[in-house]
Amino acid sequence: MDSNILNNLQLTKVAVSKIDTFDFENVKFGAKFTDHMLTCAYKNGEWGALEIKPYAPITLDPSARVFHYGQAIFEGMKAYKQDNNDIWLFRPDENFHRFNKSAIRLAMPTIDETRFIGGLKELIKVEKEWVRKGLGNSLYIRPFMIATESGVIASPSSEFLFCILLSPAKSYYSGKIKVQIADYYSRAANGGIGAAKAAGNYSAQFYPTKLAQEAGYNQVIWTDSTHTHLEESGTMNVFFRINDTLYTAPTSDRILDGVTRKSLIALAEHLGYQVKIEPVKVEAIIQAAKEGSLKEIFGAGTAAVVNQIEGFAYKDDYYELPNIADEDAYALQLKNALTKLQNKLTDDPFNWTVKI
Ligand SMILES: *Cc1c(COP(=O)(O)O)cnc(C)c1O
Repeated sequence: MDSNILNNLQLTKVAVSKIDTFDFENVKFGAKFTDHMLTCAYKNGEWGALEIKPYAPITLDPSARVFHYGQAIFEGMKAYKQDNNDIWLFRPDENFHRFNKSAIRLAMPTIDETRFIGGLKELIKVEKEWVRKGLGNSLYIRPFMIATESGVIASPSSEFLFCILLSPAKSYYSGKIKVQIADYYSRAANGGIGAAKAAGNYSAQFYPTKLAQEAGYNQVIWTDSTHTHLEESGTMNVFFRINDTLYTAPTSDRILDGVTRKSLIALAEHLGYQVKIEPVKVEAIIQAAKEGSLKEIFGAGTAAVVNQIEGFAYKDDYYELPNIADEDAYALQLKNALTKLQNKLTDDPFNWTVKI
Protein backbone atom coordinates (compact mmCIF):
# COMPACT_ATOMS: atom_id res chain seq x y z
CA MET A 1 0.00 0.00 0.00
CA ASP A 2 1.22 3.47 -0.92
CA SER A 3 0.52 5.59 2.17
CA ASN A 4 0.86 8.84 0.17
CA ILE A 5 -2.22 7.96 -1.84
CA LEU A 6 -4.21 7.26 1.33
CA ASN A 7 -2.88 10.36 3.10
CA ASN A 8 -4.03 12.49 0.16
CA LEU A 9 -7.54 11.05 0.18
CA GLN A 10 -10.10 13.88 0.12
CA LEU A 11 -13.00 13.26 2.48
CA THR A 12 -16.22 15.28 2.30
CA LYS A 13 -18.87 14.11 4.72
CA VAL A 14 -22.62 14.43 4.36
CA ALA A 15 -24.25 17.07 6.54
CA VAL A 16 -26.85 14.59 7.82
CA SER A 17 -26.62 10.80 7.62
CA LYS A 18 -29.60 8.82 6.24
CA ILE A 19 -28.88 5.94 8.59
CA ASP A 20 -31.52 6.79 11.21
CA THR A 21 -34.34 6.53 8.69
CA PHE A 22 -32.91 3.48 6.87
CA ASP A 23 -35.01 0.30 7.07
CA PHE A 24 -32.37 -2.41 7.52
CA GLU A 25 -35.04 -5.09 8.03
CA ASN A 26 -36.67 -4.70 4.63
CA VAL A 27 -33.79 -3.92 2.31
CA LYS A 28 -34.18 -4.95 -1.29
CA PHE A 29 -30.87 -6.24 -2.65
CA GLY A 30 -28.87 -3.52 -4.39
CA ALA A 31 -31.60 -0.89 -4.26
CA LYS A 32 -30.34 1.56 -1.61
CA PHE A 33 -26.92 2.92 -0.85
CA THR A 34 -25.00 4.33 2.09
CA ASP A 35 -24.19 8.03 2.66
CA HIS A 36 -20.88 8.14 0.80
CA MET A 37 -19.12 6.79 -2.28
CA LEU A 38 -15.50 6.60 -3.32
CA THR A 39 -14.34 8.01 -6.66
CA CYS A 40 -11.07 8.29 -8.52
CA ALA A 41 -10.51 9.69 -12.01
CA TYR A 42 -7.99 8.50 -14.61
CA LYS A 43 -6.59 11.13 -16.95
CA ASN A 44 -3.35 11.78 -18.88
CA GLY A 45 -2.23 8.21 -18.29
CA GLU A 46 -2.57 8.14 -14.52
CA TRP A 47 -5.00 7.71 -11.65
CA GLY A 48 -5.69 10.82 -9.59
CA ALA A 49 -6.55 11.34 -5.93
CA LEU A 50 -9.08 9.20 -4.09
CA GLU A 51 -12.19 11.03 -2.98
CA ILE A 52 -14.86 9.99 -0.51
CA LYS A 53 -17.90 12.19 -0.89
CA PRO A 54 -21.68 12.19 -0.46
CA TYR A 55 -23.48 9.64 -2.62
CA ALA A 56 -24.84 11.67 -5.54
CA PRO A 57 -25.44 11.56 -9.31
CA ILE A 58 -22.39 11.93 -11.52
CA THR A 59 -22.40 14.23 -14.55
CA LEU A 60 -21.00 13.02 -17.86
CA ASP A 61 -20.87 14.41 -21.35
CA PRO A 62 -23.61 12.73 -23.43
CA SER A 63 -20.92 11.57 -25.86
CA ALA A 64 -18.93 9.85 -23.08
CA ARG A 65 -17.62 6.57 -24.53
CA VAL A 66 -19.32 4.39 -21.94
CA PHE A 67 -22.73 5.28 -23.44
CA HIS A 68 -21.69 4.39 -26.98
CA TYR A 69 -19.04 1.67 -26.84
CA GLY A 70 -19.74 0.00 -23.52
CA GLN A 71 -16.40 0.23 -21.75
CA ALA A 72 -17.78 -0.61 -18.31
CA ILE A 73 -16.69 -3.23 -15.78
CA PHE A 74 -17.63 -3.95 -12.19
CA GLU A 75 -17.07 -6.17 -9.16
CA GLY A 76 -19.29 -7.53 -6.40
CA MET A 77 -18.08 -8.35 -2.90
CA LYS A 78 -19.29 -8.11 0.71
CA ALA A 79 -18.20 -6.90 4.15
CA TYR A 80 -19.37 -8.53 7.41
CA LYS A 81 -19.40 -7.31 11.02
CA GLN A 82 -18.46 -9.63 13.84
CA ASP A 83 -20.12 -9.38 17.29
CA ASN A 84 -17.10 -7.50 18.65
CA ASN A 85 -17.58 -4.84 15.91
CA ASP A 86 -14.62 -5.95 13.80
CA ILE A 87 -15.40 -5.66 10.09
CA TRP A 88 -14.14 -8.27 7.62
CA LEU A 89 -13.75 -8.53 3.88
CA PHE A 90 -13.79 -11.88 2.10
CA ARG A 91 -10.91 -12.57 -0.32
CA PRO A 92 -10.75 -8.94 -1.57
CA ASP A 93 -7.52 -9.71 -3.43
CA GLU A 94 -9.51 -12.03 -5.70
CA ASN A 95 -11.89 -9.23 -6.67
CA PHE A 96 -9.00 -6.81 -7.09
CA HIS A 97 -7.15 -9.12 -9.48
CA ARG A 98 -10.31 -10.00 -11.39
CA PHE A 99 -11.15 -6.31 -11.78
CA ASN A 100 -7.79 -5.71 -13.42
CA LYS A 101 -8.24 -8.75 -15.68
CA SER A 102 -11.58 -7.34 -16.78
CA ALA A 103 -9.95 -3.93 -17.32
CA ILE A 104 -7.26 -5.39 -19.57
CA ARG A 105 -9.81 -7.30 -21.65
CA LEU A 106 -11.84 -4.12 -22.23
CA ALA A 107 -8.78 -1.97 -23.02
CA MET A 108 -9.19 -0.02 -19.78
CA PRO A 109 -6.36 0.96 -17.37
CA THR A 110 -5.58 -1.33 -14.45
CA ILE A 111 -5.75 0.18 -10.98
CA ASP A 112 -3.32 -0.23 -8.09
CA GLU A 113 -4.07 -2.18 -4.92
CA THR A 114 -3.85 0.95 -2.74
CA ARG A 115 -6.64 2.69 -4.61
CA PHE A 116 -8.83 -0.41 -4.93
CA ILE A 117 -8.41 -2.23 -1.60
CA GLY A 118 -6.95 0.64 0.43
CA GLY A 119 -9.64 3.03 -0.86
CA LEU A 120 -12.36 0.48 -0.13
CA LYS A 121 -11.14 0.04 3.46
CA GLU A 122 -11.18 3.82 4.00
CA LEU A 123 -14.71 4.05 2.60
CA ILE A 124 -15.93 1.26 4.87
CA LYS A 125 -14.30 2.90 7.90
CA VAL A 126 -16.36 6.03 7.14
CA GLU A 127 -19.50 3.87 6.70
CA LYS A 128 -18.86 1.40 9.52
CA GLU A 129 -22.28 1.95 11.12
CA TRP A 130 -23.86 0.70 7.89
CA VAL A 131 -22.38 -2.78 8.37
CA ARG A 132 -24.81 -4.71 10.57
CA LYS A 133 -23.99 -7.64 12.83
CA GLY A 134 -25.63 -11.01 12.69
CA LEU A 135 -25.58 -13.93 10.27
CA GLY A 136 -27.34 -12.89 7.08
CA ASN A 137 -26.47 -9.20 7.33
CA SER A 138 -23.75 -7.80 5.12
CA LEU A 139 -22.69 -4.74 3.21
CA TYR A 140 -22.64 -5.34 -0.53
CA ILE A 141 -19.73 -3.59 -2.26
CA ARG A 142 -19.95 -2.50 -5.87
CA PRO A 143 -16.68 -1.20 -7.39
CA PHE A 144 -16.96 -0.21 -11.06
CA MET A 145 -15.13 1.63 -13.82
CA ILE A 146 -16.53 3.51 -16.83
CA ALA A 147 -15.08 5.30 -19.86
CA THR A 148 -15.72 9.03 -19.48
CA GLU A 149 -13.89 10.65 -22.39
CA SER A 150 -16.24 12.53 -24.71
CA GLY A 151 -16.51 11.86 -28.44
CA VAL A 152 -18.40 9.29 -30.49
CA ILE A 153 -15.19 7.84 -31.79
CA ALA A 154 -14.99 4.07 -31.77
CA SER A 155 -11.68 3.75 -29.98
CA PRO A 156 -10.77 3.21 -26.34
CA SER A 157 -11.32 6.13 -24.01
CA SER A 158 -8.31 7.81 -22.43
CA GLU A 159 -10.31 8.98 -19.41
CA PHE A 160 -12.07 6.81 -16.85
CA LEU A 161 -13.89 6.98 -13.57
CA PHE A 162 -13.42 4.39 -10.83
CA CYS A 163 -16.12 4.38 -8.19
CA ILE A 164 -17.20 2.24 -5.21
CA LEU A 165 -20.77 2.13 -3.92
CA LEU A 166 -21.96 0.37 -0.75
CA SER A 167 -25.40 -1.16 -0.28
CA PRO A 168 -26.68 -2.81 2.93
CA ALA A 169 -27.83 -6.37 2.21
CA LYS A 170 -29.80 -9.00 4.07
CA SER A 171 -29.94 -12.64 3.06
CA TYR A 172 -33.42 -13.91 2.44
CA TYR A 173 -34.75 -17.26 1.36
CA SER A 174 -35.76 -16.83 -2.26
CA GLY A 175 -36.98 -20.40 -2.63
CA LYS A 176 -35.76 -22.88 -5.19
CA ILE A 177 -35.74 -21.70 -8.77
CA LYS A 178 -36.56 -23.24 -12.15
CA VAL A 179 -34.08 -22.84 -14.96
CA GLN A 180 -34.05 -23.23 -18.70
CA ILE A 181 -31.01 -24.62 -20.49
CA ALA A 182 -30.01 -22.40 -23.42
CA ASP A 183 -30.31 -24.14 -26.78
CA TYR A 184 -30.24 -21.09 -29.04
CA TYR A 185 -28.95 -17.92 -27.34
CA SER A 186 -25.50 -17.44 -25.81
CA ARG A 187 -24.23 -14.96 -23.23
CA ALA A 188 -20.58 -15.29 -24.23
CA ALA A 189 -18.54 -16.30 -27.25
CA ASN A 190 -15.28 -18.14 -27.67
CA GLY A 191 -12.60 -15.49 -27.42
CA GLY A 192 -15.20 -12.96 -26.24
CA ILE A 193 -15.64 -11.09 -22.96
CA GLY A 194 -17.57 -13.73 -20.99
CA ALA A 195 -14.75 -14.14 -18.47
CA ALA A 196 -14.68 -10.38 -17.78
CA LYS A 197 -17.15 -8.84 -15.35
CA ALA A 198 -18.27 -6.50 -18.12
CA ALA A 199 -21.57 -4.64 -18.08
CA GLY A 200 -22.26 -5.79 -21.65
CA ASN A 201 -22.42 -9.45 -20.61
CA TYR A 202 -25.58 -8.62 -18.69
CA SER A 203 -27.31 -6.75 -21.49
CA ALA A 204 -26.60 -9.77 -23.72
CA GLN A 205 -28.58 -12.04 -21.42
CA PHE A 206 -31.56 -9.88 -20.45
CA TYR A 207 -33.62 -10.61 -23.56
CA PRO A 208 -33.24 -14.43 -23.60
CA THR A 209 -33.78 -14.42 -19.82
CA LYS A 210 -37.00 -12.46 -20.31
CA LEU A 211 -38.17 -15.08 -22.83
CA ALA A 212 -37.33 -17.84 -20.33
CA GLN A 213 -39.29 -15.99 -17.63
CA GLU A 214 -42.30 -15.66 -19.91
CA ALA A 215 -42.12 -19.44 -20.37
CA GLY A 216 -42.20 -19.90 -16.56
CA TYR A 217 -38.52 -20.18 -15.61
CA ASN A 218 -36.50 -17.89 -13.35
CA GLN A 219 -33.12 -18.10 -15.04
CA VAL A 220 -31.21 -19.47 -18.00
CA ILE A 221 -28.27 -21.84 -17.69
CA TRP A 222 -25.92 -20.84 -20.48
CA THR A 223 -24.21 -23.38 -22.67
CA ASP A 224 -21.16 -23.31 -24.95
CA SER A 225 -21.30 -22.26 -28.61
CA THR A 226 -22.64 -25.66 -29.71
CA HIS A 227 -25.05 -25.87 -26.73
CA THR A 228 -23.49 -29.17 -25.68
CA HIS A 229 -22.00 -28.22 -22.31
CA LEU A 230 -23.52 -26.46 -19.32
CA GLU A 231 -21.53 -23.39 -18.35
CA GLU A 232 -23.08 -20.92 -15.91
CA SER A 233 -26.29 -19.24 -14.90
CA GLY A 234 -27.26 -15.53 -15.01
CA THR A 235 -24.98 -14.16 -12.32
CA MET A 236 -23.78 -17.41 -10.81
CA ASN A 237 -21.53 -20.35 -11.53
CA VAL A 238 -23.30 -23.71 -11.46
CA PHE A 239 -22.73 -26.96 -9.57
CA PHE A 240 -24.31 -30.35 -10.32
CA ARG A 241 -24.46 -33.20 -7.84
CA ILE A 242 -24.68 -36.67 -9.37
CA ASN A 243 -24.95 -39.30 -6.62
CA ASP A 244 -22.38 -37.96 -4.15
CA THR A 245 -20.05 -36.19 -6.55
CA LEU A 246 -20.15 -32.46 -7.28
CA TYR A 247 -19.37 -31.35 -10.81
CA THR A 248 -18.68 -27.85 -12.08
CA ALA A 249 -17.30 -26.63 -15.38
CA PRO A 250 -13.69 -25.45 -15.59
CA THR A 251 -13.37 -21.70 -16.12
CA SER A 252 -12.71 -20.57 -19.67
CA ASP A 253 -12.97 -17.36 -21.68
CA ARG A 254 -16.76 -17.82 -21.63
CA ILE A 255 -17.12 -18.39 -17.88
CA LEU A 256 -16.66 -15.92 -15.05
CA ASP A 257 -14.09 -17.13 -12.55
CA GLY A 258 -16.35 -16.79 -9.50
CA VAL A 259 -14.90 -16.28 -6.02
CA THR A 260 -17.85 -18.17 -4.54
CA ARG A 261 -17.29 -21.03 -6.99
CA LYS A 262 -13.62 -21.44 -6.08
CA SER A 263 -14.36 -21.04 -2.36
CA LEU A 264 -17.09 -23.71 -2.47
CA ILE A 265 -14.78 -26.10 -4.33
CA ALA A 266 -12.13 -25.68 -1.61
CA LEU A 267 -14.73 -25.97 1.20
CA ALA A 268 -16.33 -29.05 -0.36
CA GLU A 269 -12.96 -30.77 -0.58
CA HIS A 270 -12.22 -29.68 2.99
CA LEU A 271 -15.54 -31.23 4.13
CA GLY A 272 -14.63 -34.47 2.36
CA TYR A 273 -16.95 -34.21 -0.64
CA GLN A 274 -15.83 -35.52 -3.99
CA VAL A 275 -15.51 -32.60 -6.47
CA LYS A 276 -14.79 -32.89 -10.17
CA ILE A 277 -13.94 -29.87 -12.29
CA GLU A 278 -14.69 -30.96 -15.82
CA PRO A 279 -16.95 -30.01 -18.72
CA VAL A 280 -20.55 -30.96 -17.92
CA LYS A 281 -22.58 -32.26 -20.86
CA VAL A 282 -26.25 -31.34 -21.18
CA GLU A 283 -26.84 -34.94 -22.29
CA ALA A 284 -25.16 -36.36 -19.18
CA ILE A 285 -27.30 -34.21 -16.87
CA ILE A 286 -30.49 -35.25 -18.66
CA GLN A 287 -29.43 -38.90 -18.47
CA ALA A 288 -28.69 -38.53 -14.74
CA ALA A 289 -32.06 -36.81 -14.20
CA LYS A 290 -33.84 -39.69 -15.93
CA GLU A 291 -31.96 -42.31 -13.88
CA GLY A 292 -32.52 -40.45 -10.62
CA SER A 293 -28.79 -40.01 -9.93
CA LEU A 294 -29.01 -36.23 -10.38
CA LYS A 295 -29.54 -35.05 -6.79
CA GLU A 296 -28.95 -31.31 -6.89
CA ILE A 297 -28.16 -28.34 -9.08
CA PHE A 298 -27.25 -25.01 -7.52
CA GLY A 299 -25.86 -21.64 -8.52
CA ALA A 300 -23.04 -19.96 -6.58
CA GLY A 301 -22.30 -16.22 -6.42
CA THR A 302 -21.62 -13.42 -3.95
CA ALA A 303 -25.12 -11.93 -3.89
CA ALA A 304 -27.19 -14.98 -2.85
CA VAL A 305 -24.21 -17.26 -1.99
CA VAL A 306 -26.12 -20.38 -3.12
CA ASN A 307 -29.35 -20.71 -5.10
CA GLN A 308 -30.96 -24.15 -5.16
CA ILE A 309 -32.59 -25.28 -8.40
CA GLU A 310 -35.74 -27.41 -8.31
CA GLY A 311 -35.84 -28.39 -11.95
CA PHE A 312 -34.73 -27.52 -15.45
CA ALA A 313 -36.21 -27.31 -18.90
CA TYR A 314 -34.39 -28.39 -22.01
CA LYS A 315 -36.13 -27.89 -25.36
CA ASP A 316 -39.69 -29.18 -24.77
CA ASP A 317 -39.05 -31.26 -21.67
CA TYR A 318 -38.97 -30.36 -18.00
CA TYR A 319 -36.97 -32.37 -15.48
CA GLU A 320 -37.82 -32.12 -11.79
CA LEU A 321 -35.05 -32.75 -9.24
CA PRO A 322 -35.71 -34.92 -6.19
CA ASN A 323 -36.98 -33.11 -3.11
CA ILE A 324 -33.93 -33.55 -0.94
CA ALA A 325 -34.07 -32.81 2.82
CA ASP A 326 -32.30 -29.59 3.87
CA GLU A 327 -29.86 -31.46 6.09
CA ASP A 328 -28.84 -33.69 3.17
CA ALA A 329 -28.45 -30.90 0.62
CA TYR A 330 -24.83 -30.19 -0.30
CA ALA A 331 -25.96 -26.73 -1.44
CA LEU A 332 -27.12 -25.80 2.07
CA GLN A 333 -24.20 -27.48 3.88
CA LEU A 334 -21.77 -25.50 1.74
CA LYS A 335 -23.73 -22.27 2.07
CA ASN A 336 -23.78 -22.66 5.82
CA ALA A 337 -20.07 -23.41 6.03
CA LEU A 338 -19.18 -20.45 3.79
CA THR A 339 -21.42 -17.85 5.44
CA LYS A 340 -20.24 -18.88 8.93
CA LEU A 341 -16.64 -18.51 7.82
CA GLN A 342 -17.37 -15.11 6.24
CA ASN A 343 -19.10 -13.93 9.43
CA LYS A 344 -16.20 -15.18 11.60
CA LEU A 345 -18.44 -17.69 13.40
CA THR A 346 -16.02 -20.52 12.57
CA ASP A 347 -12.29 -20.85 11.99
CA ASP A 348 -10.89 -19.72 8.70
CA PRO A 349 -8.33 -22.41 7.83
CA PHE A 350 -7.84 -20.85 4.38
CA ASN A 351 -7.05 -17.30 5.62
CA TRP A 352 -9.71 -15.88 3.34
CA THR A 353 -11.02 -13.20 5.69
CA VAL A 354 -9.26 -9.82 5.87
CA LYS A 355 -9.88 -7.41 8.74
CA ILE A 356 -10.51 -3.74 8.03
C1 LIG B 1 -20.15 -12.16 -10.65
C2 LIG B 1 -20.52 -13.35 -11.47
C3 LIG B 1 -20.48 -14.66 -10.95
C4 LIG B 1 -20.18 -14.96 -9.51
O1 LIG B 1 -18.93 -14.54 -9.09
P1 LIG B 1 -18.64 -14.34 -7.53
O2 LIG B 1 -17.23 -13.87 -7.50
O3 LIG B 1 -18.81 -15.67 -6.90
O4 LIG B 1 -19.62 -13.36 -7.03
C5 LIG B 1 -20.77 -15.70 -11.81
N1 LIG B 1 -21.11 -15.48 -13.10
C6 LIG B 1 -21.16 -14.24 -13.62
C7 LIG B 1 -21.51 -14.07 -15.04
C8 LIG B 1 -20.86 -13.14 -12.83
O5 LIG B 1 -20.93 -11.91 -13.35
